[in-house]
Amino acid sequence: MDILSTGGTFAPIFTEIETILGTDTYDMWMRPASFGFEGHTLTIQLPNQFWQKTIQSRYEHIIKDAFLKHTGLEITVSYIIKEIKDPVQTVLQNVQPPEPVIAPVVKKSPFPARLNDSYRFENFIESPSNRFAYKAAQAVVNKLGNRENNPLVIYSTPGLGKTHLLHAIGNQILQQNPTARVLYMSGEEFVSEYIEALQNKSSESFRKKYRSLDCLLMDDIQFVAGKAASEGEFFYTFNALFESGRQIVLSSDRTPQELGLEERLSSRLLSGIITEIKKPNLETRIAILRQKRDSIHFDIGDDVIAFIAEGIQTNVRELEGSLFRLVSYCSTHGVIPTIPVAKELLADILSQEEQRLAVNVNAIKKVVGKHFKIDMDDFTSKRKTQSVAWPRQIAMFLSTELTNMSLPEIGREFNRDHSTVVHARDLIKEKIKADPFFSAEINQIISDIKTVDKK
Ligand code: ADP
Ligand code: MG
Repeated sequence: MDILSTGGTFAPIFTEIETILGTDTYDMWMRPASFGFEGHTLTIQLPNQFWQKTIQSRYEHIIKDAFLKHTGLEITVSYIIKEIKDPVQTVLQNVQPPEPVIAPVVKKSPFPARLNDSYRFENFIESPSNRFAYKAAQAVVNKLGNRENNPLVIYSTPGLGKTHLLHAIGNQILQQNPTARVLYMSGEEFVSEYIEALQNKSSESFRKKYRSLDCLLMDDIQFVAGKAASEGEFFYTFNALFESGRQIVLSSDRTPQELGLEERLSSRLLSGIITEIKKPNLETRIAILRQKRDSIHFDIGDDVIAFIAEGIQTNVRELEGSLFRLVSYCSTHGVIPTIPVAKELLADILSQEEQRLAVNVNAIKKVVGKHFKIDMDDFTSKRKTQSVAWPRQIAMFLSTELTNMSLPEIGREFNRDHSTVVHARDLIKEKIKADPFFSAEINQIISDIKTVDKK
């Protein structure tokens, strides 16, 4: 009954739903379902009731909005729980959803690469925060398996484009060589497939599958770390590929050192290129939103784009999600997207973001305060004595470096205007350049802030 298997008409609707939900959520909840459509009714076939509840409560309105936008139809949604024949499977299915099946856009390659066609280099906005990762990803494609770029490890906090780049690498490799054996998978899938292979006593074919690859793209390897047997298997897979000159690209939500991998694997990872994607600056966030706006052909002003970009700083997925939420609301209700509408509609996510950012400045104040033995109140007080003014200037400088807040926003956190922040920033920068001891002290403070921030 799957309307997606017939391709064509419904594909853009589901692509949009995927963009709104984010690939991870979509893969988890939507991909395993099948969909039928007749009259005004979309029928969703699902493995269990838990699943139905989740889609009904969290995603049904998004699905309806997407259909309305693309077809002009106000649809109703009905659910069917699919009977599952295998009793063991049934038990498992009732406990938790099965692993997502990732098979969206199938390439012409004889090998199922599991790539999402819409993540490409061309629609990835390059910026100072991701430039190195972007260039390294392209270098991998051009020199597949070259020792200098092998493995490539990309890490970042969530929603900053790791998965996008991994798919872009795979898509580009296949574009240049359609018969290349490329495989994208998540660390989580690797672990569960490995466990399954052990249960079915099919470890040999499991191994063969991986070891015949030209390029393995493994996303979120933090899921492999610390699971002794899987980590061991991953190490052997990794070595087999690495030693025969095959390309490995990995992503992680933390640095390889922080993954807690066993020494032999960790040192192998460290032998390639390791690159971090940082949070995008304001111009980049605006560029990303403009690209999305243009791709969906929805008329939304630059002032509104700038408003969203100012408000959502830490996660591109949420940034895009906010735009789509606004677009979807405005197109459904025939409302013109303005800043007040965006403010109202995105109030919850904007305030969450504000809290996230506030934590950051607080962490900076906390660590700097402790280091120089001054009180939290001193950062906002009018006191100008050097023993207070100096740490305050350091904290302002660090806020410009470590957060994505604008200068006026930082100013407000210190009860000052933005020109004071600029002055502090430049002063401290000069001092860092001139004085290596001071530079080391600042580095120490930064690493303290990073650990405080995580807690
Ligand atoms: P991660 O894997 O790091 O959690 P994703 O790759 O899933 O992040 O990115 C989240 C969303 O943001 C995706 O829709 C992706 O296309 C988009 N995105 C992230 N960075 C960029 C960028 N620089 N240019 C365009 N889109 C981006
Ligand atoms: Mg990801």
